[in-house]
Amino acid sequence: MKKRVVGSKAKAKHEKALVAGRPKPASGGATGHRPIKNARHHEVGGVTIEVVAAANGQVKRVVYPPGFRWSTHMKPVVGTALCMHGHVGFLSSGHVRGQYGDGCAFEFTAPEVVVLEPGHDAWVVGREPAVLIQFDAAGETAQRFGLPSEHRH
Ligand SMILES: [Zn+2]
Repeated sequence: MKKRVVGSKAKAKHEKALVAGRPKPASGGATGHRPIKNARHHEVGGVTIEVVAAANGQVKRVVYPPGFRWSTHMKPVVGTALCMHGHVGFLSSGHVRGQYGDGCAFEFTAPEVVVLEPGHDAWVVGREPAVLIQFDAAGETAQRFGLPSEHRH
């Protein structure tokens, strides 16, 4: 009985909020996305990253702004010649092109599943931010997903 009362109060409050119109989130940041619940949030090289620990890995939302290029904006921070992370995820918006060290090219246009081997450069195409929902295990991502440690044939 008590639970029903609490539930209906919560529902009434929610409905009132909807009628009043939802304000912009206070901490939505430059990406225009509502913050992910319980996520750690940081920015590097103009890229906005939200991370939530999940099972024995983590789920991320990574927003790459228009004009972003890994070799221009991230390479000086990371210090490797190419991005040495494996990426497994879902490009929910935007358009990305890139190239592996051996010249093999790739391109992803949302909505599209993304699998990238370590050893690549990549950049955002067009004026829309690229939003990647990524599943990873930090430095163990390639190994965990059965990717090679670096792109090769
Ligand atoms: Zn190749």
